[in-house]
Amino acid sequence: MPLPVADTWFTAQKISEGVTLILEPHVHVLEQANLWLVEGRDRDMILDTGMGIVPLKPFLDSLRSDPTKDIICVSSHTHIDHIGGVHEFDTRLVHPLEAEEMAAPSGLNSLFRKDVPEQLLQTFLDAGYPPIDELLIDALPHAGYDPASYVLRGAPATGLLEEGDTVDLGNHRYEVLHLPGHSPGGIGLWEASTGTLFAADAIYDGPLIYEGPGMSVEAYLQTFDKLKALDVRIVHGGHDPSFGPARMAEIIAEYEARWGA
Ligand SMILES: [Zn+2]
Ligand SMILES: [Zn+2]
Repeated sequence: MPLPVADTWFTAQKISEGVTLILEPHVHVLEQANLWLVEGRDRDMILDTGMGIVPLKPFLDSLRSDPTKDIICVSSHTHIDHIGGVHEFDTRLVHPLEAEEMAAPSGLNSLFRKDVPEQLLQTFLDAGYPPIDELLIDALPHAGYDPASYVLRGAPATGLLEEGDTVDLGNHRYEVLHLPGHSPGGIGLWEASTGTLFAADAIYDGPLIYEGPGMSVEAYLQTFDKLKALDVRIVHGGHDPSFGPARMAEIIAEYEARWGA
């Protein structure tokens, strides 16, 4: 059966002053990442860029109060659902351990289930995600779109972000946290003054993925220790709705128990 054509590819929801959550609702939930637009005084930031099925930047510019303002693109890590639009931005930042992967993606690069490695499919099912149909999308972005034409392009970094670095938007200053476990160079952004943590795939309120290439439970446990030390008020994850400190502690405790920590 042919797929329907989507009314709109991206949705946007204002979460707080200057912070907008962007989603791709027609992408299967397991590859449907949270893309975070933060509009700053001096520059804007997009944290993660989705699958790259359609251009993201024009949509962002339609949302931004000043689309002529500089915008920096931060990749929390380099899985397919987080770097699809990175090539659209002039400033592209990522952790050094994943810079090579961002420049030339070597992982999943297809919308077809048949191209997802069997082991990865099993990992997702075991984690609690629903099964995938033939495709990772349930609608076409426009009439005539050929899912077989999909390519995850990637792009070389123009700068690197390591533990302790700062991403400065003028009125917001985020400290970079290295949060490996889900991926070797996963990073989060932490604003101590407001207790705001953009945690990406290190922690979110859904099935965490910790078994696969580049993943490590041992590293994940250290990442959890780092998160537990933060005086968090709100966590914006890489997937699923945001949550507060009590839920963060619950999620961490659940996985620590599962891993026998
Ligand atoms: Zn993800
Ligand atoms: Zn990921």
